[in-house]
Amino acid sequence: MSAAPVDKCDRCQASLCCNYITVALDTPRTKADFQQLLWQVSHQGVEVYKEKQGWCLLVYSRCEHLQADGRCAIYASRPAICRDYDNAFCEYDAPAEKGFQLHFRNHAELLAYLRRRFRRWDGPSAPGR
Ligand code: SF4
Ligand code: SF4
Repeated sequence: MSAAPVDKCDRCQASLCCNYITVALDTPRTKADFQQLLWQVSHQGVEVYKEKQGWCLLVYSRCEHLQADGRCAIYASRPAICRDYDNAFCEYDAPAEKGFQLHFRNHAELLAYLRRRFRRWDGPSAPGR
């Protein structure tokens, strides 16, 4: 994404950072909050993680401007978030997951966490019942 050093992005065949978006979330606290997340991670390509800065939704989706050769079709006018992205240390160097405190890639993983976090998650007063 970033302009320099160009050779590093040139070597990044998969253009890793152009194949997903993230959306910052309010910290989920209640069962209702987590029910929303359960629904979201039930969709293919949608994950949830928590890092030092907070919770985020991760949506894998290839940018429409990413060309077959890995270059950006709108490089001169690419969005500010792409311009500001610092490639000094990025996914090319280490998987982003390394910085995650929590990571839920699907419904089963999040549900297992909720059953540990809320002792009565499956009880009669469970949300949605
Ligand atoms: S993941 Fe890093 S190296 Fe790859 S395109 Fe993005 S900024 Fe460049
Ligand atoms: S606009 Fe360009 S730099 Fe930004 S994500 Fe899309 S392809 Fe990558």
